[in-house]
Amino acid sequence: MDNLKIWHKFLETIKSQVSPVNYKAWFSKIKLDSVEDNQVIFSAPHAFIKETLTQRHLPLMESALAEILGKKVGVEIIVKTLGLPPQDPEEDFFQPVQSKTSILNPKYTLANFVVGPSNNVAYAAAQAVVQNPGTSYNPLFIYGGTGVGKTHLMLGVGNAILDKAPHLKIAYSPSEKFMNDYVEAIQTHKMGAFRAKYRSLDVLLIDDIQFFSGREGTQEEFFHTFNELVGKNSQIVLTSDRTPHEIAKLEDRLKSRFAGGLMIDIQPPDFDTRVAILRAKCLELKTNLSEETLQLLASSFDTNIRELEGKLVRILQVLKTQNLEPTTENISLHLLTAPKSSLKIDPKQVLTTVCSYFNLTHKELTGSGRQKGLVLPRHLAMFLLSEELKMTVERVGQILGGRDHTTVMHGRDKIKQLMTQDREIQRILIEIKQQLDSQQLFT
Ligand code: ADP
Ligand code: MG
Repeated sequence: MDNLKIWHKFLETIKSQVSPVNYKAWFSKIKLDSVEDNQVIFSAPHAFIKETLTQRHLPLMESALAEILGKKVGVEIIVKTLGLPPQDPEEDFFQPVQSKTSILNPKYTLANFVVGPSNNVAYAAAQAVVQNPGTSYNPLFIYGGTGVGKTHLMLGVGNAILDKAPHLKIAYSPSEKFMNDYVEAIQTHKMGAFRAKYRSLDVLLIDDIQFFSGREGTQEEFFHTFNELVGKNSQIVLTSDRTPHEIAKLEDRLKSRFAGGLMIDIQPPDFDTRVAILRAKCLELKTNLSEETLQLLASSFDTNIRELEGKLVRILQVLKTQNLEPTTENISLHLLTAPKSSLKIDPKQVLTTVCSYFNLTHKELTGSGRQKGLVLPRHLAMFLLSEELKMTVERVGQILGGRDHTTVMHGRDKIKQLMTQDREIQRILIEIKQQLDSQQLFT
C-alpha cells in the first residue's frame, strides 16, 4: 500500500471516530511524513498540535494504523513550522507612524491570563497564533459565554504580536466599530479609505462577531475583507458568544469561512481557576487575602470572571469603608448578611445604572425631552422596573417623571419584543443586569 493510500484510509478512520470539531482542529492540520517498518511519522505545523495529539489522541492514531497496516506500529509526530514570511523593507516606512500605544488595551496580556482546564486549549491556540501569525489558524475563532475571557485572550494575542513585531499593523475592532465604520464610509463616500484601512492590516481582531447577525451589507463587505486578508496571510482573530453555525442571519459563506480555521471554546472557570484568578487580581490590587478567604470567595460565586472580579473589588471597598480587615470572618459575615434577592434592588439604583450606562443625567432620563437617544434608555428603565422589580406600571410611570401607565406598558412591551430578536438589546440588558447584580450584595 502506498503512503497516499495509507494517509487517506487513516483520515477516513479518524474522521469516523472523532467529532468534526476535533477532526478539523487537529487532524486536518497534520500530514503523513513517512512510513517506516514499525513506525509512522506525521508532521504538525506547531508544537502545540503535536502536544495535543500526543496527549489526547495517540491511542486512537495507533489503533487506526494497526487496523490499516495489519500490525502494531509506533507513532511519532514531528514539528515542521512554516516560519514568518520575509519582511518587506518598505514596511520600515510604516514603523514611525505605527506607535506601540495602539488602540490595544495593554492591560490584557497573555502573561496575566490565568490558565486552567476551562481555557487551556484556547490559550495554547492563542500562543500558536502569536508564534506564527497568519499562517496556520486563520481565522482563530474563540467562542464562549459572557465574561469568560474571550476579549482578554484576543487582546493578549494582539499585544504579544505587537511586542514581537512592533512594525505590524494591528487593529482591534469590536464588531460594532466595524459596522459603524462601514456605514459611515458609505454615507461619506469613503469606501476607498475604509478598504485601504482594513485590507492593509497584518492582524485584524474583531470582537463579538455575533452582532454581525442580520447586517447584510456589513457581512458582504467583511467577506471581501476576510478573503483579502487571509489571502495575504494576515492573521484574523474573531470572538463570539456562540459557534458560527449558531449565529442567526449570518451568510453561509461566512459561517464556513469562520469555521475554516481553528474554532475553540472557553468554558466557565472551575473552582481552582477562580481561586487563581482572584489571587492574581489581589496581587494587582496589592491586597493580601488568605488562601482560605480566596477559596470562600471562589465558592460563593460560580459566575463569570467579570462578575467575580467586580464582586471582589466591591467587597474590598465596603470593608474598607467600614474600617474592617478583609479577613475570612469579615468577608463571610458580609456575604451572609448581604441580601441576595433582586427584589431588594431599589428603583433608584435601576435609574442610576441606566443613566450611567448611557451617560445620561437623571433629569434627561425622566424628563420630557424627545431626542432619539433618550427613547431606548427610558424603555429599558420601564422594562427593568416593571419586569425585574415587579413594580406596577402606574408606579413606574410616577418614578419616570409622571408618565402615563400606558406609555410604560408600551415601553416595556417594546423591549420584550426587541429582546427576542435584537442581539444588541440583549447585550445591553445583560450588561445592565450584571451591573445591578454586582450592586445587589451591597444594598
Ligand atoms: P468576555 O470577552 O469573554 O466577555 P473578558 O475577556 O472581557 O470576557 O473578561 C472579563 C474579565 O475577566 C476581564 O477583566 C478579564 O481580564 C478577566 N479574565 C477573564 N479570563 C481571565 C483569565 N483567564 N485570567 C485573568 N483574568 C481573566
Ligand atoms: Mg468580550
